Amino acid sequence: MGSGPAAGRVAAFLDRDGVLNESVVRDGKPRPPASVDDIVIRPGVPAACNSLRDAGVLLLVVTNQPDIARGKATWDEVDAINQHLITELGLDAVLVCPHDDADGCDCRKPKPGLLLQGAERFGVDLARSVMVGDRWRDIDAGRNAGVTTVWVRSDYPEGAPDAPDHTVDDLAEVVPLLIPALTVEEDSLR
Ligand SMILES: [Mg+2]
Ligand SMILES: [Zn+2]
Repeated sequence: MGSGPAAGRVAAFLDRDGVLNESVVRDGKPRPPASVDDIVIRPGVPAACNSLRDAGVLLLVVTNQPDIARGKATWDEVDAINQHLITELGLDAVLVCPHDDADGCDCRKPKPGLLLQGAERFGVDLARSVMVGDRWRDIDAGRNAGVTTVWVRSDYPEGAPDAPDHTVDDLAEVVPLLIPALTVEEDSLR
């Protein structure tokens, strides 16, 4: 894990469904919106994204979309939702895993692949960054990538994640959590 002035930028790796936009629980599973018309951005999310961006934090969405592998959604349908969120929230990028468990990819959370891709592309210092998610897969992916983990409290039947570093009710609570990491960055520039 790098440290010091050349270590890179602070990122908030953000899960999409259930963090930025509402998930709809169907058959006991949180489900993504089916189309742009179905997107409901969660309260406080635009303001939290603005605060994080103004503080110099990269906003990198990392999202499992196994409906693509399952033939229940097309890449274009998923991308239309992502582009809408990029525009509405000023996100830096949305990284997508389109696979299912059987594909054995290295990007489906809880694997850290999406976070590592984002870190490489944007020069992120993982040790000072966070992963924010509403499911155990997000928290485990963050831990596997070496970032601080933040669980957005949910009550899905699958249960709570194992030992997140922080638990919050919404994205707004993540802003103060990142201030120490940003202070380190400023100090390192002196
Ligand atoms: Mg989610
Ligand atoms: Zn994948």
